Amino acid sequence: MHELAIAQAAIELAEQAARGRRVRRVTIEVGEFSGVLPEALSFCFDLAAQGTLLDGAELDLRKISGLARCESCAAEFDVSSELATCACGATCLVYLHGRELNVKSIELFECD
Ligand SMILES: [Zn+2]
Repeated sequence: MHELAIAQAAIELAEQAARGRRVRRVTIEVGEFSGVLPEALSFCFDLAAQGTLLDGAELDLRKISGLARCESCAAEFDVSSELATCACGATCLVYLHGRELNVKSIELFECD
């Protein structure tokens, strides 16, 4: 499963950053067009975190909605689909937001 691999990668990254401390919360930005289902990612995260420094850690998923800029007229507008077109008729869009898949922050327990 796609989301399981992503969850495992995020957990690995957080464990490295934690250096043996327990992780309280991981914030991940998930773009609307990233191809990741937040619910599935959340489920896989809890599963993959078992027995790691992230066992019981909270997963904070921030959904990022789509924003595109038209290559033709430079208008910026919200998009809900990657098949969107500009009001001017152009189809060549640059996606400024919506494809994110980032581990944004990792919060550790300060003391044991
Ligand atoms: Zn345009």
